[in-house]
Amino acid sequence: MSVVLGSLLGKMAVLDEVTKNFLFHLADVAGVRKSKVLEAYELAKRAEILNVKECGDEILGVRIRVESESRRGEVHYVSVGKFGAKCTCEFSVIRRGLCKHILAGLIVWYAVSMLRFGKPIDLDSLEWLKQMREGKEEKTYVRSGEEEVDDEDALRREP
Ligand SMILES: [Zn+2]
Repeated sequence: MSVVLGSLLGKMAVLDEVTKNFLFHLADVAGVRKSKVLEAYELAKRAEILNVKECGDEILGVRIRVESESRRGEVHYVSVGKFGAKCTCEFSVIRRGLCKHILAGLIVWYAVSMLRFGKPIDLDSLEWLKQMREGKEEKTYVRSGEEEVDDEDALRREP
């Protein structure tokens, strides 16, 4: 399955109330600025859907490809689902941050679920999202300024 989400999202009224509420709720749950979520939404519109996992009347997760904003021609592969999320970008792999691509993945997942089954995904049930948020808050508290790179961890988590 290879679909450009732009055409999928085009079928929905762009930023209708339900979608807007979802995006703002995502910002809350993920602990990020609304502007970051809106940037992720723009990424999601251009993302290519590589795989959709479906069971019963539920979308369990999606795998997408997004273009890097900073480096032309570079792409990132993102998987999001009920049990975790993964992105191949440096910020995600080395710094273990909640990157814009993972947020874009969640938005694609939401859009696929809305179009397929007419229901949004339940962000509050995603334990990994809460943990990423907590991890981030802890790091911000303990360290100041730039986050350090843990070399051992970075190697272990290399894709
Ligand atoms: Zn990423």
